[in-house]
Amino acid sequence: MDTPYTLHLFGRDLRFHDHFALDAAARYGLPVAATFVFDRTRPYGYNSRQESVVYRRLRWMHEQLRGHGGWISVVAGNELDWLEKMLRSGVVRAVSACREYDPGGVARSTERRNLCAKYSVDYREYEDSLMLPIGSVCKPDGSAYLVYGPYARRWHEIFESREWFVAGNTLPKIQWLPSRQEDFPSRESLDIEQFFESVRLDMPHNPDWTCYADRRDRVDDPNGTTSLSVALRLGAVGPRECAILAKKQSTTLLGELVWREFFTMLLSRFPASAHTEFREKYRGIAWSQDSEMLDAWQEGKTGFPLVDAGMRELAATGHMHNRIRMLTANVATKLLRLDWRLGERVFAEQLLDYDSAINLGNWQWSAGTGADAAPYFRVFNPEVQRAKFDPLGEYVRKWLPENSPGSYPLPIVDYRRSRGEYLEWWKSQT
Ligand SMILES: Cc1cc2nc3c(=O)[nH]c(=O)nc-3n(C[C@H](O)[C@H](O)[C@H](O)COP(=O)(O)OP(=O)(O)OC[C@H]3O[C@@H](n4cnc5c(N)ncnc54)[C@H](O)[C@@H]3O)c2cc1C
Repeated sequence: MDTPYTLHLFGRDLRFHDHFALDAAARYGLPVAATFVFDRTRPYGYNSRQESVVYRRLRWMHEQLRGHGGWISVVAGNELDWLEKMLRSGVVRAVSACREYDPGGVARSTERRNLCAKYSVDYREYEDSLMLPIGSVCKPDGSAYLVYGPYARRWHEIFESREWFVAGNTLPKIQWLPSRQEDFPSRESLDIEQFFESVRLDMPHNPDWTCYADRRDRVDDPNGTTSLSVALRLGAVGPRECAILAKKQSTTLLGELVWREFFTMLLSRFPASAHTEFREKYRGIAWSQDSEMLDAWQEGKTGFPLVDAGMRELAATGHMHNRIRMLTANVATKLLRLDWRLGERVFAEQLLDYDSAINLGNWQWSAGTGADAAPYFRVFNPEVQRAKFDPLGEYVRKWLPENSPGSYPLPIVDYRRSRGEYLEWWKSQT
């Protein structure tokens, strides 16, 4: 194949619409080759459960491309080795990709850029996974906002001040490089296990999110939230498209999407917060590493029904309602005093919407160590939470069918005593 072409490296932008990189490629005029590399050497990338959903999405994209004379090349291995092979052929004129902000993505970006420079090939990144360019929301002196409120105010000012443009469907606009591969690679050839896959990857038609603020906290309401997190993580829905829809229907929902950008910005500006407490004064805390406690929490055997139901749901489906994530993280870091990094890893390996910046941001928020964190003295009472958010017990019954309310095992810690001990401990540590 010696037709010169543009190579687009798909990453967390698995769609054809609301896509600035593909829109630019369409205008560039050269045929476009689409590719995705399952690269397990890249830190903070997709976990193995997510790979299963990514695979499904790529197969769908491949079918779409076939309808337009193109194809998507999907391989597993070291992305840089693969890219170098492509560049060596001498026919790649430009490489484009979606910008990533976590430490793994930033390192990969430098490596790609250097490699392209070696072959005198233009490398460009586009901000296709966020609503606003990451650098645009900062203080007047260019420094980062560390508190969500002022960050969100500035975010809204910028968002309101721009004429919003969402690139439409780029699929028919692009001249795709003709297909040379008939079959889409099998899961086995890519070493991908099949996992729970009935997860929403498309934007619903005419979504109604007007009652989001009233319904989002009810863990027994499957339609109380948008269920878009996996699609947002993969880039199967466009973030700008989401923002425009959310703005029309629910400011609370738009606020949650802004939290997503706030945490992304924080990790990008402070990459050390991926492994250490965001606030320096909390860096010496002697968190517990108790593996028995960790196992009990992870396996859903704490004796707190709502916590256990949540951990069972996570293990079975890769999902957990936001309220339960807040509760399980609060119990782990406060009542059990477990190192937030241990809990963060469990979520990182199991969540289908795992996103390093959001997960780290929320874990540090829950542990009280984050930039703009929950106050240390907010210790959730699992029973009060159960009465508030699962009043009819439907959620607990679904995930703990073996236990009738009266037969539930005793909690592994006593709430009142552990809360008191935790508060004393926190004061002695900080
Ligand atoms: C300890 C903990 C860990 C978490 N880890 C992740 C993670 O790895 N990936 C992830 O996408 N979300 C994470 N969240 C945030 C939140 O729980 C999920 O985004 C949400 O439950 C997904 O369901 P939904 O799409 O229906 O959300 P909706 O309530 O419909 O919200 C819409 C979108 O807003 C964003 N959002 C919502 N809540 C938050 C939040 N607290 N912080 C940042 N963005 C938010 C998400 O992109 C979400 O899809 C975590 C929360 C906690 C407390």
